[in-house]
Amino acid sequence: MELQERLNEVRSHIEAAERQAGRAAGSVQLVAVSKTFNADQIRPAISAGQRVFGENRVQESQGKWPELKAETAGIELHLIGPLQSNKADDAVALFDVIETIDREKIARAVADEMKRQGKAMRLYVQVNTGLEPQKAGIAPDDTAAFVELCRKELGLSIEGLMCIPPAEENPGPHFALLAKLAREAGVEKLSMGMSSDYETAIAFGATSVRVGSAIFGAR
Ligand SMILES: *Cc1c(COP(=O)(O)O)cnc(C)c1O
Repeated sequence: MELQERLNEVRSHIEAAERQAGRAAGSVQLVAVSKTFNADQIRPAISAGQRVFGENRVQESQGKWPELKAETAGIELHLIGPLQSNKADDAVALFDVIETIDREKIARAVADEMKRQGKAMRLYVQVNTGLEPQKAGIAPDDTAAFVELCRKELGLSIEGLMCIPPAEENPGPHFALLAKLAREAGVEKLSMGMSSDYETAIAFGATSVRVGSAIFGAR
């Protein structure tokens, strides 16, 4: 199957899941996760009208996205992988949305860079809903206070929460927990769901889904 066909299939599954959940058509944004794929492999997705992309590494993204962004207006690039504070300058320069704010040090580094570069960023707080030791993200119990700190003390606009449920677990309860935490913290957007579970995530209220292999193929 060609990339365009797979992309159309994902789009129609998203539409069906929106309908089934009684949600408005177009209420779920598709973030096409292009990590490990090069510019030539990404261009067909852009040609097919896709404008929102996700990458998990700053350095890898610097090797392809400046060129792709220069070619096509309106590209929106999301950082969905862990960010180190010494890469905050590059991340703020290249990305439009950072989905992985998960500790005060990184929130401060991003706030400082936004000021220095005069660039507004849309931000999500990553929550470690499964409390997995190897995974990034703030603990569920600390989420509301951390969002408050980002907003009040650092002046950051936190628009949503993001999670990656444990691979071997039923994702539904994790999606439900993220939705509850978002209500408590007063944030509107929910970035949750990947190739294997994005339809479930939409049923639980995802406003964006991050889909890689179902579009670009196996990595
Ligand atoms: C790679 C990745 C995805 C996409 O995963 P697929 O299973 O290929 O759809 C989504 N979110 C994050 C944070 C990722 O690193």
